[in-house]
Amino acid sequence: MTTIRLHNTKTRRKEEFIPLDPKNVRMYVCGPTVYDRAHLGNARPVVVFDVLYRLLRHVYGADHVTYVRNFTDVDDKINARAAATGRDIRAITDETIGWYHADMEALGTLRPDLEPRATEFIAPMVAMIADLIAKGHAYEAEGHVLFAVESYADYGALSGRSIDDMIAGARVEVAPYKRNPMDFVLWKPSDDQTPGWESPWGRGRPGWHIECSAMSYELLGASFDIHGGGNDLQFPHHENEIAQSACAHPEGDFARYWLHNEMLQVEGKKMSKSLGNFFTVRDLLDGHDGQPPVPGEVIRFVMLGTHYRKPMDWTEKKRVEAERTLSKWSSQVMDRDGEERPNAKFLAALADDLNTAGAIAVMREMSKSGDYDGLAHAAKLLGLDLGNFDLVLAGMHNADVSLRQYDLSKFEDQLLELRNAAVHSKDFSKVDTMKRALADAGVEVRMSKSRVELITLKDFDPTKLEGLR
Ligand SMILES: [Zn+2]
Repeated sequence: MTTIRLHNTKTRRKEEFIPLDPKNVRMYVCGPTVYDRAHLGNARPVVVFDVLYRLLRHVYGADHVTYVRNFTDVDDKINARAAATGRDIRAITDETIGWYHADMEALGTLRPDLEPRATEFIAPMVAMIADLIAKGHAYEAEGHVLFAVESYADYGALSGRSIDDMIAGARVEVAPYKRNPMDFVLWKPSDDQTPGWESPWGRGRPGWHIECSAMSYELLGASFDIHGGGNDLQFPHHENEIAQSACAHPEGDFARYWLHNEMLQVEGKKMSKSLGNFFTVRDLLDGHDGQPPVPGEVIRFVMLGTHYRKPMDWTEKKRVEAERTLSKWSSQVMDRDGEERPNAKFLAALADDLNTAGAIAVMREMSKSGDYDGLAHAAKLLGLDLGNFDLVLAGMHNADVSLRQYDLSKFEDQLLELRNAAVHSKDFSKVDTMKRALADAGVEVRMSKSRVELITLKDFDPTKLEGLR
């Protein structure tokens, strides 16, 4: 069996991954707060943990891996969006979840096995909060319930900070009812305009952190294997998740391996609305600000070109190179199903703390040496759909939709007929003439033993096909 090694934030070391139960490997990743389109930076953890999910499925079997990613559908940002637009909260969260699924699927990511919505797990959250109060780790104050950080000696261990450091470095919400400024909200009161649920502490809503602790416990148990997320979540979110879960369920380990991906930049700068370099995944997929559309495979490939624990820089240069590489690989793996045995070197790179950059380097070698079956398999394992990549790319570059969808099937039939005849007569002159005419008209010709495929390119001009009718 392939040995997977993962860098564990908890121990700050690369460790061999040994699941609690190889028949039931469990991973939890913090999901989005659903009120707006995902930006490119939001997509990085989704792609990173999708690769890990695929690797775990490859090693342990698809039926033996459970991947949970939550939707935060109760949050003050959602409430603010509802107030600003006059729309129903559920309509906003449903619509955003639909966008999220479509955008992430365009990046070749698989849906997690379970996608719990916070609002569907309020009762388990209330039960966990009550349990934390009973055990002396939380207290009620002015309609709020707060977690008492001083009641948990290991608070700060994940990020390696002391409570004093955290107070000094963090933007802590100061409130008169807090015993310690670091104490964080488990439950807060809701007014009539804000979503709320009945609880022993009055009508209110949960804090953000408790949702992941309660949902992971309900769906994966008190001990599970991997917890993932962006490194911006390490503190305070993950620190607080650990405190809640460890105190509510001291019988368990909570998550045993913590993985954090680094952030994304654009052309060397932090992506921000004020710098004018902010864009959503959908902006890229559809084309924005005069830029051509970018296929999802290209976005995925560029992201995987950088190791997940390093900052990833999205650049125009990388986009162009990725298009070129995937285009070449697409024509090389044509008609191959990717069902071959995996290339050991490729798999070893991937299993070495998800060294996707190293894995891609092995794929470049396979492309060069003509190991197209290996390349097809590697692409499949990495979640890159090369099957019709050129077709997608060519279509995207054709701004005119009618040209993109131009029906070339009769020319495909005609060329196949000519080719079959030429195989018998050994005279390929008619085939060559037609191929030249097609190329002239901006059509790429691909021929395999059994079929002919014609693809319109950017400079496709259907009027030049008239002579072929
Ligand atoms: Zn979380």
